[in-house]
Amino acid sequence: MADVPNNSVQVAKGPPCPTCGRTLLTTRSALCNWCGAVIKDEAYQQRAAEERALQDAELQQQLRIEQMENARLGVLGRLKKNRKPGHNVDPLV
Ligand SMILES: [Zn+2]
Repeated sequence: MADVPNNSVQVAKGPPCPTCGRTLLTTRSALCNWCGAVIKDEAYQQRAAEERALQDAELQQQLRIEQMENARLGVLGRLKKNRKPGHNVDPLV
């Protein structure tokens, strides 16, 4: 039986907070996850801003794709609505 559970060992994600000294859970936030203090580390802030911008761009792209699909589905839905059932199935055309 192992005395040391693996769960107790937290994977260090970010640098320690200069204010409270605890390891940051995310490198994306400009504030400490624990005490809410601004992390006064230029390199960290730069990386955090980059990560936020990256996520932002991904989110924007997803929104754009969704909007495009919505617009397309909306048009298709309108076309289907305008087309009366049976009208197009004409053997004489
Ligand atoms: Zn802190």
